[in-house]
Amino acid sequence: MQTIGLIGGMSWESTLEYYRILNLETKKRLGGFHSARCVLYSVDFAEIEEWQRQGNWQEAARCLLAAGRALQAAGADFILLCTNTMHKLAPSLEAELGIPLLHIADATADAVKAAGITQVGLLGTRFTMEQDFYRDRLAKKHGLNVLVPGEAERQIIHEVIYQELCMGVVKASSREKFSKVISNLADAGAQGVILGCTEIENLVRPQDSVLPIFATTKIHAEAAVNLAIKNRGN
Ligand code: GLU
Repeated sequence: MQTIGLIGGMSWESTLEYYRILNLETKKRLGGFHSARCVLYSVDFAEIEEWQRQGNWQEAARCLLAAGRALQAAGADFILLCTNTMHKLAPSLEAELGIPLLHIADATADAVKAAGITQVGLLGTRFTMEQDFYRDRLAKKHGLNVLVPGEAERQIIHEVIYQELCMGVVKASSREKFSKVISNLADAGAQGVILGCTEIENLVRPQDSVLPIFATTKIHAEAAVNLAIKNRGN
């Protein structure tokens, strides 16, 4: 199989899941002792989080690009950026790196469309829910109608992500809040919901949601295994 490069650590709570799913899926597909051939560059999330808050995307781009180049030098055939939010910088990574980036929104949109869903809710950080880079990709490239929660609910979700999930804290009270937000999205016409932050699936399970969930870490990691196996002869 091809070598999968991971830019991780955003946060490491979800990168652990990437590593687990890549290996489980590879074993499922190839059997025996097979495991995923991969290289991980894990950043210091404290720096990334500060640059996000400051709006210093240039510095963040420099950091991710250096990570991508290191992965390329280590033999990665393609890159997974293990966070939805930092896909804000996907265009510059795609332009600067000599190997492809498997975009998390493309893998997710493919799963949503395969389920026959056209109108989908999106949960994630404020950056992901409010800015164009993610919603526009789903809408313009994939023809999906994207619904996001209202302002007060977006604030709650953003706070739970940074203050709890990225710190490894999983609370039943927050799970209930997310379930309510998803019910409201269903009332607004969503047919499914994208857990568009790689830690949310550590909190929200299928049984916590009235809508079918699209868990981006799982979808992204499985898409990577598919690609790595499909191209193994290359
Ligand atoms: N892992 C999260 C995401 O998928 C948030 C952490 C980050 O800001 O990168 O968006």
